[in-house]
Amino acid sequence: MSLDFDVFVVDPKPIPSTVPGFEDAVGPATWPPSTSTLISDDDGALLVDCLATEREGRKLAAWVKSHDREPGYVYITHPHADHFLGLPEILAAFPEARPVALAESIPAMEEQISPGYMQVWGGFFPGQLTSRPVAPAPLAGTTVPVGGSAATLIPVGTTDTGHSSVVHVPGLSLVVSGDAVYNQTHMWLRRSTPDSRASWARALDAVAALEADTLIAGHRNPRAADDDARRQIGECRRYLADFEAALERSSAPAELIDRMTTAYPGLANPYTLWVAAYDLFGTGT
Ligand SMILES: [Zn+2]
Repeated sequence: MSLDFDVFVVDPKPIPSTVPGFEDAVGPATWPPSTSTLISDDDGALLVDCLATEREGRKLAAWVKSHDREPGYVYITHPHADHFLGLPEILAAFPEARPVALAESIPAMEEQISPGYMQVWGGFFPGQLTSRPVAPAPLAGTTVPVGGSAATLIPVGTTDTGHSSVVHVPGLSLVVSGDAVYNQTHMWLRRSTPDSRASWARALDAVAALEADTLIAGHRNPRAADDDARRQIGECRRYLADFEAALERSSAPAELIDRMTTAYPGLANPYTLWVAAYDLFGTGT
């Protein structure tokens, strides 16, 4: 069996800014750069997450086809629709593939594709989203086949949303982290609380305990040096701690933004930081 993996990457994409002053200070608002990972062996494949827009879904499907492996399953790591609105395009190309997620995460995924939420997502990506979104089906248990092999799903609780999970493939010393770990990209902390940030830190401990060498983050800076798991987990731990301290010392969004931007000048998607800052001080978005 030749177990292997490959990563499909999409660059940051423009979205309408809802944060005062962002475009003047930084430039166009963007959605973070995102990834989808194909894990395969000689007998088949598992696709992990499948992006947001119809165009991305189509390009991802063509990329999967180029690997000459049929994905038996598509696993969705967490209930954020930008990681599974591409599903109809994947299922159109691979009708046999079964979209699945941890049973506990399904209600939140169904909520994400309700008409109200789809209107919100459509505001980010006008005219670019499927009109027939699909939620995955609940998985019995915590493993999913990869051809003749298997991947283990690790529930990690609340990270940037509830019911998050990561995919562990011990044979590749690989973790596919969804949003539990970010690679050189501002972490989504809008609507976060001290409790949710503490939970995210515990999730990082749970991922670290897997002792994988390679980690593919759901949001990866195109300029990130590598996919080293320990570096990324360490950087995310530090980001959360620094954010907590900077939030404590700040009394307005601009102060928090300044502190974090000074500490993290090179991270992808500063818009994520601005959205969190204005939200947490109750002054916008
Ligand atoms: Zn995400």
